[in-house]
Amino acid sequence: MNAQVDVLEHVVIAVDGTSGSGKSSTCRAVADRLGLRYLDTGAQYRAVTWWMLEQGVDVHDAAAVAARAGEPVLVSGTDPLAPTITVDGVDVSVQIRSDEVNAAVSPVSAVPEVRARLVAMQQAIIAPPGGRHGGIVVEGRDIGTVVWPQAELKVYLTADPAARAARRALENGGVDAASIAATRESLLARDEIDSGRAVAPLTMADGAVHIDSTELTLDEVVDAVVGLVMERR
Ligand code: C5P
Repeated sequence: MNAQVDVLEHVVIAVDGTSGSGKSSTCRAVADRLGLRYLDTGAQYRAVTWWMLEQGVDVHDAAAVAARAGEPVLVSGTDPLAPTITVDGVDVSVQIRSDEVNAAVSPVSAVPEVRARLVAMQQAIIAPPGGRHGGIVVEGRDIGTVVWPQAELKVYLTADPAARAARRALENGGVDAASIAATRESLLARDEIDSGRAVAPLTMADGAVHIDSTELTLDEVVDAVVGLVMERR
């Protein structure tokens, strides 16, 4: 382990923000650069949603979702170069990015029983019981507000809806105007539910640094976050 990694051993970097603002790419690159673990909490909400859909649970019926929230067994891998997510032993990394999951994930994530379970799981991954653990970059919507408010660095990452839709559509292979418009609608619909829900709504945490990535390249955002981490050590 090099000196920098040693210094950063217990550091927790919380990155929250709107859908498609570049959180995943940024967090993975920051974690890789600093030798830290990486946790994608959105993937966990997506995995629970995928499981609910597979089980035929009505995802718009909060009581039905709550009743089954304790059942799926999730395992998240925290290697920033190869993050993994399994549900009941099945690798669902591809399935959780489908349009069906995109459309259902925000209502499922608004159910308090789902959040309580995942928040406890996330806290146990950040700081496993029993002492020394590697530092970690955690991305989501409520990391700086609920999951780990004591994080050494909290970042609130946003970008204009047009920029977010264009980037996300490009990732999904659709760069025509119709794909971009559909992606924009999907992102904005999720943001609206995520920001308006009663439990742990998306909001900027106290003490968070706001980075607007609209005009920045990925490298520029990563440099900014790494610079903030180093400033605080
Ligand atoms: O980050 P990603 O866009 O993959 O997250 C998918 C959805 O999961 C979000 O739109 C939100 O509804 C939910 N989520 C959440 N809390 C988190 C992470 C994600 O509610 N910490």
